[in-house]
Amino acid sequence: MCPKEAISQVGNQLPQISEEKCIECGKCIKSCGMHAISFYH
Ligand code: SF4
Repeated sequence: MCPKEAISQVGNQLPQISEEKCIECGKCIKSCGMHAISFYH
């Protein structure tokens, strides 16, 4: 999903987005509708 492999998910927890890797391309937001994924920067 993420072209930069910035998303990591551990178990059933919400995915974590690496701030360093994320280019804010928006693909993950489109995929999940931003319900589970939100940027923290
Ligand atoms: S916006 Fe989402 S899919 Fe795009 S680089 Fe960032 S974490 Fe990955």
